[in-house]
Amino acid sequence: MEKTDEKTSLTSSLGCALGLKRQLVGVTFLFDKEEFNTCMVPLSTQSISYCSLVRMATIGFERKAGLKQISCPGATRALGMVPPDEEYLSGRRYLSLGMYNNLECARETATHVARMEREVYGIAVQPLLGCKATPHVVIAICNPNQAMRMVQGRIHGSGPLTPMQGMGMQGLCAELTVRPFLTSDINTSLLCSNTRYTCAWADSELGVAMPYEAFPAVVQGVIDTVNAAEPDSAKDDILKRAKEQDVELNIRKGVAYYCKTPTQETPSTRVRSLSISVRGVHKTHTLKSGSAINALNGVSFDVKDQEFLTLVGPSGCGKSTLLNLMAGLHEPDSGTIMVYGGAVNNHPNLGFISQADTLLPWRTVQKNVEMGLELRKVPPRQRRSISEQLMSQVNLLDFAQSYPFELSGGMKKRVAVIRALAYDPDIIFMDEPFVGLDVQTRDALEEDILNLWHNRRKTIVMVTHDLGEAITLSDRVILFSGRPAQVRAEYEIPLQRPRSVSESKFTEEFISLHKRIWQDLSAEVLAEADGEIYG
Ligand code: ADP
Ligand code: MG
Repeated sequence: MEKTDEKTSLTSSLGCALGLKRQLVGVTFLFDKEEFNTCMVPLSTQSISYCSLVRMATIGFERKAGLKQISCPGATRALGMVPPDEEYLSGRRYLSLGMYNNLECARETATHVARMEREVYGIAVQPLLGCKATPHVVIAICNPNQAMRMVQGRIHGSGPLTPMQGMGMQGLCAELTVRPFLTSDINTSLLCSNTRYTCAWADSELGVAMPYEAFPAVVQGVIDTVNAAEPDSAKDDILKRAKEQDVELNIRKGVAYYCKTPTQETPSTRVRSLSISVRGVHKTHTLKSGSAINALNGVSFDVKDQEFLTLVGPSGCGKSTLLNLMAGLHEPDSGTIMVYGGAVNNHPNLGFISQADTLLPWRTVQKNVEMGLELRKVPPRQRRSISEQLMSQVNLLDFAQSYPFELSGGMKKRVAVIRALAYDPDIIFMDEPFVGLDVQTRDALEEDILNLWHNRRKTIVMVTHDLGEAITLSDRVILFSGRPAQVRAEYEIPLQRPRSVSESKFTEEFISLHKRIWQDLSAEVLAEADGEIYG
């Protein structure tokens, strides 16, 4: 296996130690045209705000932008791309934009920013994990607890800190990019109302940034403070995360100077680690003729939070019936299905991607993607920002204004997938989502799903009859018997993540898993055929 470089190992160590939900972002100033042109990061194809670039990087993708691409004049000045004018230097401009409530603070930031020695030609914003070169600044969007730990890590790692300067609401460009670059120190900022609005950051999210030189010491400091101050139960959680992500972390148990007695896990967190529980579910369909088809016969299993689970079984055994029950579209005859510890119907945040083409033909791609957001009354600007991010993740931005009839089958599927992701559901159900597509399109879509899942970690329950697809995508596969469906077997899929669709299919692990599940599945299919012929 390739030796992981320093950036990768620091990034994953910090991610595990703090349980960061978003990817860390690396920002690189590009000081002249040549540097801008030779930078390998793709150019933004649209005019976009600086904070949207950062937001996109926190969910896994990279763009560079120059004066032509950055849509907010405040950011181009703050980032040193446009020389500051008097209005700006006096602080009045920031004040009038409502970013500071005090002229002194506004002036302090403005004059500070004006100290950039060289004019900046453009900027590259990337997930830190994928940065090939070393970026100038690292930005983390996280919760206050995680932010505090990074600041604490900085103090722990390199002695007392100069007083932090970020006093205003002006977030990403001034406080979290230019200031850490100029001061060589860590800084935190509440995110300004503009970025909160355009990027839909959660109320609990704020920003921390540091120059890349300070990053290794911060990560070491965070790990040291964990070792010195966390109880073993917290260290166990961290080690578990590290193991799942195959990260080596030097966490030593039992040496904390401050150790709370381990508390009982509260019921709510216990429920949260489990997203769906299916218990003793029976379902019989009654046909118009009056005859009954017994589809599910006492099905029980659990789905863990953020798990990718796939259901396979002979055709007609009851998989779609089960998925519809789990999504709350129908009710079981007996047994229970709980979602996050409550009834399915109490949990509105579910996504469903079906086999059928369910795009609305009179709406453009973009309008289709934004459908769920409209229903949830998300304001138009925010809707657009979300749909554009998703469309560019699956290369559909150029088709935003096309209608479904103008798209290929694979493109329509991609629209359906990102439409389900747009309103950020906790759980996504997919019923044979790629059926009827050619192999290449299917592989590309699977790759998209893997990337989207890797970036956003949803709970996904998928039905498929394609074993290869089941193994490539899932954490676990459940095999059902012929009708009426019962759980026959369960297989953990230990292929390492992140996975690649094209590569994982050729690994020995994949081939042997495929063989094993295939044998069991064929046995079910044969048993069912026997039943039909002789039963
Ligand atoms: P799978 O998805 O595993 O192929 P389904 O859950 O679609 O299987 O179907 C299981 C059985 O239930 C099939 O025999 C099917 O004909 C029957 N069935 C499914 N839905 C209905 C329905 N709404 N009304 C009557 N029978 C149904
Ligand atoms: Mg089906």
